[in-house]
Amino acid sequence: MTTAQDEFRFWTDDDYDPAIPSIEQVLGYAPGERITWHRDAIRYFEALAEAAPDRVQIVEYAQSWQGRELIYVALSSADNMDRIEDVKAGMQSLRDPRQTPPDEAEAIIGNQPPVTWLSYGVHGNEISSTDAAMLTAYHLLASRGDERVADIMDDTVVVIDPMQNPDGRDRFIHHFTSSLGLEPDSDRLSAEHDEPWPGGRTNHYLFDMNRDWFIMTQPETRGRIAALQEWYPVVFVDAHEMGGDSTYFFAPEAVPYNPHLAADQTESLQLFGRNHARWFDEFGLDYFTREIYDAFYPGYGASWPSYYGGIAMTYEQASSRGLVFRQYDGNDLTYAYTVRNQFLTSLSTAETVAVNREKFLTDFYDYQVTAIEEGEQEENRAYLFPVQADQAAVTRISGLLTRQGVEVLRATGAFDACGIDYAAGSYLIRADQPAKRFVRTLLEPQVSMEDDFLAEQEERRANNLPDQIYDVTAWSLPHMFNVDMNICDRVPAGEFEAAGPELFIPAEVQGGEAQVAYLVPWGSAPAARLLAKGLLAGLDIKSNDLAFTNLGRDYPAGTLIIDVADNPGDLYGTMSELARETGAEVVAVNDSWVTDGPSFGSGNVVRFNAPRVAIAWDEPTAAYSAGNTRFVIERQFDYPVTPIRTDRLGSADLDRYQVLLLPLTAGGSYNSTLGEAGVENLKNWVSDGGVLIAMGNATRFLADPEVDLLAVRRERAVVEVEPGEEEEEGATVAGTYLTEEEQFRQRTIALEDSPYPVSGVMARADVHPEHWLAAGVAPVLNVLIRGSEIYTPIRIDDGVNVARFQGSDELLASGYLWEENRRQLAYKPFALSQPRGAGQVIAFTQDPTVRAYLDGLNVILVNAIFRGSAHARPVR
Ligand SMILES: [Zn+2]
Repeated sequence: MTTAQDEFRFWTDDDYDPAIPSIEQVLGYAPGERITWHRDAIRYFEALAEAAPDRVQIVEYAQSWQGRELIYVALSSADNMDRIEDVKAGMQSLRDPRQTPPDEAEAIIGNQPPVTWLSYGVHGNEISSTDAAMLTAYHLLASRGDERVADIMDDTVVVIDPMQNPDGRDRFIHHFTSSLGLEPDSDRLSAEHDEPWPGGRTNHYLFDMNRDWFIMTQPETRGRIAALQEWYPVVFVDAHEMGGDSTYFFAPEAVPYNPHLAADQTESLQLFGRNHARWFDEFGLDYFTREIYDAFYPGYGASWPSYYGGIAMTYEQASSRGLVFRQYDGNDLTYAYTVRNQFLTSLSTAETVAVNREKFLTDFYDYQVTAIEEGEQEENRAYLFPVQADQAAVTRISGLLTRQGVEVLRATGAFDACGIDYAAGSYLIRADQPAKRFVRTLLEPQVSMEDDFLAEQEERRANNLPDQIYDVTAWSLPHMFNVDMNICDRVPAGEFEAAGPELFIPAEVQGGEAQVAYLVPWGSAPAARLLAKGLLAGLDIKSNDLAFTNLGRDYPAGTLIIDVADNPGDLYGTMSELARETGAEVVAVNDSWVTDGPSFGSGNVVRFNAPRVAIAWDEPTAAYSAGNTRFVIERQFDYPVTPIRTDRLGSADLDRYQVLLLPLTAGGSYNSTLGEAGVENLKNWVSDGGVLIAMGNATRFLADPEVDLLAVRRERAVVEVEPGEEEEEGATVAGTYLTEEEQFRQRTIALEDSPYPVSGVMARADVHPEHWLAAGVAPVLNVLIRGSEIYTPIRIDDGVNVARFQGSDELLASGYLWEENRRQLAYKPFALSQPRGAGQVIAFTQDPTVRAYLDGLNVILVNAIFRGSAHARPVR
């Protein structure tokens, strides 16, 4: 029995096999004495694999953006490792009851070691779990005094993913090491505990990878999702850290539960929680469960595995954010202590799986059986994507789902379902499949939270307490990609083939080599990618701002025109390659005669330039927004962006740049970073022909009366009750009788509050059809509303409300929205455009690049950058 006061010990028994190298032997320091770099952790696992090759397997499953390898380490008895491919095959069989009847399943379960998957450090500055990962592996291979170890190794497989985010981790360690002095300083004000922007939490493109699971924008996530579907672990742990003044959090998780999970999954969480509590009691450690950290959103590591039938959990250790941290009560929280706690829950997790081996395997199989049964019986039997304008977005959804184990079918002929005709190329997703719960969660327009949870949140708000909704309440893929999907209560008959994992389909030039021009119909991500790549390749590209008809075919506004006469050389070869690389539709035309709409030489046709694009970088920007925006432009559209530190923007000569993006801010403001002279510099640059684009709350900066780059103002909350009489100035005021509760409300209501912040809902915005910023954009956009930003509409003599939210009864597409926000958002702008001198000012009042997962907003964003630059008219 150890207490915190005794000499520090990781385990009660020190009897370890000397043939297995300890952390100290390989790395030169004891566990918890230093924060281990990515390279050193890999080195340690390699040493373990060398010492015990029959019990250790290291697999590289991905590479980070910066080229660091992501690995997982499988540990089990030599017998199990000998048949490790059969172990994986066993789980594959249990995953599909259509191939594996109950008697076969029973036979497999009798002889199958279940897999425990321990994932560490998805947030790079949550450091303790990686060192705990090394200690856990060492303990499982070397301990002779812990009788649980033999059961764990004989009856289960433990897979350790020691670093989900090596770029972020090394960024943290680099900052920490650079700040160190004589000795580690526990003072929270010390620079070593105070990370500079952007901090180590995120990956290279500053993504929170613990939100990325179902949307898979990052290579680290894609690798993990593929690996999990090879193994199907029955339990998946995502070990985190939280604020340093806290204790330790483990399962069961907080409400609200996602209603699509199976009941036994939430019940099993209790088994883990109870076992951890036993060990924490033995060591005399504090912990808590349930109060925070729900798993409602399906993009967490602690929720995604639930949708193939695993038990997914988050653990949270109070962080020392360094080697020692002074807690509010004067206790020094050491790194070793935090590593030990993560080590304890890791072992306790594996122990719980060993003890409940048969139950968890049976539950896993039953999860698939009941998923199929429910999919046969429930009302929603078929999810259907008709062939539509942005078919590329549908292909992408299909590929994303397929990569996550969903069976997607593509029609090879026409069919009808629920009275609607579908053409060949439409997609069908049947509910009667093992992934049914995942399908419902991702495709249905609404996933609702429990009523009593919501009632509690309304009560908290009424008392000026923050709500407990932890993340967005809406994520329906058809909304986010802005595509049409229908749900039918029966499975249609027709000819279908299985869709593959491809995210786009390469295209060919239609009509062969053109005499006059190539046309690229506008309105999809592939066309946007073609524009970006074409400009970089030096092509001369024009665009028709309005819809037109050529040779009997209607083209949408914004269609690209690439004239043969303007582009000498092998234009056909170039266009063929661009069509193949991007999947964009390219039509060769031999006659420029336009029968409806502007001709190719009209004043409504503009010529693109290849704009140099800059983005404000560093404080006061929100790291997520800066990084995610840069990612969308660089990696989804292959166009380079120059990040410029915000405090440089004040005095820099920006003439080289045509476009400047201002990401959301966190904390500070652009006004104070830029200063008066800096604001003047930006205004002059815009007037001379620059395109300034504000995202989300950066609109505050443009709308600030002192800055006045955009003729709108930010709104406060509506005060719905008469505030009552002004109070007199003076030490005392006249006494009054409050005889009604309403009078009490009048006297206590806040008069100058911002609107109450929204966790995240999808709202519909109507698009102005004639403005160039809306070229090719769907007539209705789905926008993710977060926070408390609401702006006044712009007056028509100042600019254009290019997209504005619908009326209060129509605007909510999905999620849970406070009543007064719903009313106040109605008819307020989402996208604003205001010319200024030779330049353009554009604002998106909500973040269009959040998590890089609102594909439905990509066309309007690309319009802002490229068409904004084409419509600015600097003196050249
Ligand atoms: Zn975390």
